[in-house]
Amino acid sequence: MTQAETTSRTGKRVLLAKPRGYCAGVDRAVQTVEEALKLYGAPIYVRKQIVHNKHVVRTLEAKGAIFVEENEEVPEGATVVFSAHGVAPEVHEQAKARSLKAIDATCPLVTKVHQEAKRFAAEDYDILLIGHEGHEEVVGTAGEAPAHIQLVDGPDGVDKVTVRDPNKVVWLSQTTLSVDETLETVARLKQRLPLLQSPPSDDICYATSNRQHVVKEIAPDCDVVIVVGSRNSSNSVRLVEVALDAGARAGHLVDFAHEIDDAWLTGAGTVGVTSGASVPDELVQDVLAHLAERGFTDVEEITTADERLTFSLPQELKRDMKAAAERA
Ligand code: SF4
Repeated sequence: MTQAETTSRTGKRVLLAKPRGYCAGVDRAVQTVEEALKLYGAPIYVRKQIVHNKHVVRTLEAKGAIFVEENEEVPEGATVVFSAHGVAPEVHEQAKARSLKAIDATCPLVTKVHQEAKRFAAEDYDILLIGHEGHEEVVGTAGEAPAHIQLVDGPDGVDKVTVRDPNKVVWLSQTTLSVDETLETVARLKQRLPLLQSPPSDDICYATSNRQHVVKEIAPDCDVVIVVGSRNSSNSVRLVEVALDAGARAGHLVDFAHEIDDAWLTGAGTVGVTSGASVPDELVQDVLAHLAERGFTDVEEITTADERLTFSLPQELKRDMKAAAERA
């Protein structure tokens, strides 16, 4: 009997996935905006949503952050934070041209993919970037070497790929994809390009794979899996897909507990709960309270990995924090 197969005392139970919620990159990005607000004072401009979560964005707005789409919306000389998803080099150049003080909150694991893209482009490889068209991270990574990178948006994108030299091709990926779907895409690419090289290390990050792994573990036992996360959060949307593929009878994405439709719970014995990497745990606790009010009081946490990774704040911010501390 697996952990997830233990019986509930009430007949209604929740299987709570762990790891879930905030990853090291999101934690660092949110802290970056908070520390910038404390150090420089409001307003602090943030290019794009710092992380893809409505609640986080609203909370930071209430503290004095102003979210913009592009650098042109930031007054000359003001402070701008770049989001965890990363930016193309031209965005840094635009910031310089407007004399903006730029703080780069790009997740170091996204930066790692940028470095790989630059290195393979310098060696004149064709780079097949597996990812979702239009996603900010993909736009940023592709911007590192637009002449060398072509996007492959899932297994169906494979047939459109054309390369200059089939002996000199490498694939890279967005950090927040479905692990299984990416393997399928790579397998199809390798059928067409047998000498396709793989990235030096996994581009799909630890947080994405860990959250998918635990969901796969609980999903077969769940009548419904509720994923807390926003619609524009790639890794949250993937968790619903992974849950359904792994055998959950139903799966739903909600930003907030009040979005849970009671009809989803009708006849359900086991509800799985997890959250995307940009979701603070208070939103999951709200969902658990909501479920408890409907009889799902028996909560079992299923743990498949212990995450301890943390990232330090961006250098440019740390430098200013240190200088301010020395002046005080
Ligand atoms: S999901 Fe992964 S790549 Fe994205 S911010 Fe979190 S740790 Fe970084």
